[in-house]
Amino acid sequence: MNQVMIFDIDGTLTKSGQSVDKQFARFLMPYWSSRNCYVVSGSDRAKLRQQLPAELINLASGVFACSGNEFFSGSENHYSMSHSFPDELIEYCQRLVDQSPFFWRSGRHVEQRAGMLNISVAGRNSDRLERKRYVDFDKLAGERIFMADNIERVFPDYEVALGGQISIDITPKGWNKGRVYSEIRRLHPDSEIVFFGDRMEEGGNDLPLAEKLLENGHKVHAVKNFKETWDILQEHYPIIVPLAATA
Ligand SMILES: [Mg+2]
Repeated sequence: MNQVMIFDIDGTLTKSGQSVDKQFARFLMPYWSSRNCYVVSGSDRAKLRQQLPAELINLASGVFACSGNEFFSGSENHYSMSHSFPDELIEYCQRLVDQSPFFWRSGRHVEQRAGMLNISVAGRNSDRLERKRYVDFDKLAGERIFMADNIERVFPDYEVALGGQISIDITPKGWNKGRVYSEIRRLHPDSEIVFFGDRMEEGGNDLPLAEKLLENGHKVHAVKNFKETWDILQEHYPIIVPLAATA
């Protein structure tokens, strides 16, 4: 059976917020040209381009950015959802950021992307050390879960997912990575779908897609890091070598 592969980026193909490992990228190039591979990320296109080299992105069959709210392949933009978030929600998020006991602020804390709001107390401009400080703080304080619960309680028309390590993603209800499922089914109705993601726990941003796939008999792999993704690919999903043309 034909297979279509979908990869989350942060924590699945790369370390969270970082560029893909060079050796892993070299492995992925022939891999992506031999199979139908898609990527899905909570990040926007600009951030995604910092994490994956253009040569690799161009080998993907398609790229879902902004949690599946934007879909493009090559230079073609297939769709881009837009939503105007209410001022009260944006102000509420800004207040949550301002009231956080976490001390450091790097800038870019409330960011609007296609169909989503990304909220980060540490800020999207955080460097590696600042990210780590926030990750350690959040592990102890559970701040992102606290923020997500509060936002969903006060604004019931919206859902919040934990993605990456230092931020949360807010979307209108149902506008999550789960959207990718129907799009891939439309493009590849007879294929088996295999999804790799690192956040499939309750509240994780890969869960909506993982659930849809499992309900419909497809495969998912919950990985801890890109090395595990790499291992699973090598072990279970070999590169497909095209049959040589007969003379
Ligand atoms: Mg991830």
